[in-house]
Amino acid sequence: MSGATDRAVSVVLFTGDLRLHDHPPLRAALAGGGPVVPLFVLDSAIEAAGFAAPNRRAFLADCLRDLDAGLRRRGGRLVVRSGDVVAQTRAVAAQAGADAVHMAAEYTRYATRREDRLRAALEADGRRLHVHDAVVTAVPPGALTPAASDHFAVFTPYHRRWTGVRLREPLAAPRRVPVPDEVPSGPLPARAEVPGTSPGLAPGGETEGRARLTAWLRTGAAGYEDGHDDLAGDATSRLSPHLHFGTVSATEAVHRARRAGGPGAEAFVRQLCWRDFHRQVLAARPAAATRDYRTRHDHWRTERTAAGDIEAWRRGLTGYPVVDAAMRQLAHEGWMHNRGRLLTASFLAKTLYVDWRVGARHFLELLVDGDIPNNQLNWQWVAGTGTDSRPNRVLNPVAQGKRYDPDGAYVRRWVPELAGLAGPAVHEPWTLPPRERARHDYPDPIVDLADGLARFRRARGRD
Ligand code: FAD
Repeated sequence: MSGATDRAVSVVLFTGDLRLHDHPPLRAALAGGGPVVPLFVLDSAIEAAGFAAPNRRAFLADCLRDLDAGLRRRGGRLVVRSGDVVAQTRAVAAQAGADAVHMAAEYTRYATRREDRLRAALEADGRRLHVHDAVVTAVPPGALTPAASDHFAVFTPYHRRWTGVRLREPLAAPRRVPVPDEVPSGPLPARAEVPGTSPGLAPGGETEGRARLTAWLRTGAAGYEDGHDDLAGDATSRLSPHLHFGTVSATEAVHRARRAGGPGAEAFVRQLCWRDFHRQVLAARPAAATRDYRTRHDHWRTERTAAGDIEAWRRGLTGYPVVDAAMRQLAHEGWMHNRGRLLTASFLAKTLYVDWRVGARHFLELLVDGDIPNNQLNWQWVAGTGTDSRPNRVLNPVAQGKRYDPDGAYVRRWVPELAGLAGPAVHEPWTLPPRERARHDYPDPIVDLADGLARFRRARGRD
């Protein structure tokens, strides 16, 4: 944009909301009538904390390029900086002569500290920070509370209340975004520059996310209620990375799914409620990102005491085909089916009795949707230290395989050593006659399931 304007400039700091549709901070900034600086900071603290895993960095690069392209179509562009997010935002606001910065509320401990630091820095310069709720979530943490607590610890009553909330209407993307010329940008990152990504990693960006949501509601959601646990059917939305990076708005997804209607769309909306549920737990108990939400006084096995078992689990070489299939899907795609996440996590935390944090860390190193509230609290749910009302249930990987991969197609897809075995026999290769068994280069089970169960029961004082 060239030419001076006497309207106040605003900065919009993008974080986990990398879209132009349904973006309250951007709309609020534009409502001021002046130019806007759309800013993204490649945050050195996230890099330093090891949270910038290659799959997410690559997906993020796609998202930023698509956001920049969308802004350019509207007469603007994205300003990208790297470094400390507070220092960079402060510097950009000063360069632009902005009087305000708009951003979405996020709820992890890191995000709330970032917000506090940013507010203090901007106020010291005479600028204001506007933080918008219900951008990352459909219903923000704290909006719903039970009578006697600051958060819901049980999903069902939360879901009941959440269903009754009147969500704000989704906002259209702005037609024009005038950006002042004098604020320079660093280079946009590119997916190809990121080493170590999974070969089957999905593409990122709002264009991709919106197309996926539309296609899902048109053709996928109807079969979701019946098909969501079918490992081989792969019949879930795969919208999780888009929801994590905010290229799809949760509010808009709920509205559109409700409009589409039917039991599948309803079941999908219920899953979106889980996302808000975990965020409101973590907002109220930020320590639950790393510490047991409800301790069971476990003395977990660790990287030191269970190194071999952990390595076999990570590499998909446990000898339990459905566990190995899911772990290999994770390595190949940077994504895993929810049923796979449940059974691999149960196998590590309960059958092998390894600290849930070891598994959560491995997931975060690979998952393109790796998200602190969803990952850590789902791990705790499976480990029985979280909000599950049946904390001592243990998923049997053979029974899970037979139930959720009845024909064995998922195992054959991801474990080529067993691709020659027909039907559900693929779930128990150790039952084959020795001569046939020797033909498959596949390990024996690393643990006897009965021994694993007995160890877990002893540890939890259930025997
Ligand atoms: P769908 O079944 O199509 O569901 C739609 C959306 O609802 C998902 O995209 C997601 O945003 C949300 N959702 C679904 N299930 C859950 C759930 N149990 N908790 C919270 N939100 C949910 N999800 C993440 O987004 N990031 C993670 O890091 C993550 N780690 C997990 C770790 C473990 C051990 C387990 C058991 C689950 C984890 N999940 C995580 C939740 C869930 O497995 C994924 O959201 C889901 O598999 C993503 O696939 P989808 O988009 O096709 O889901």
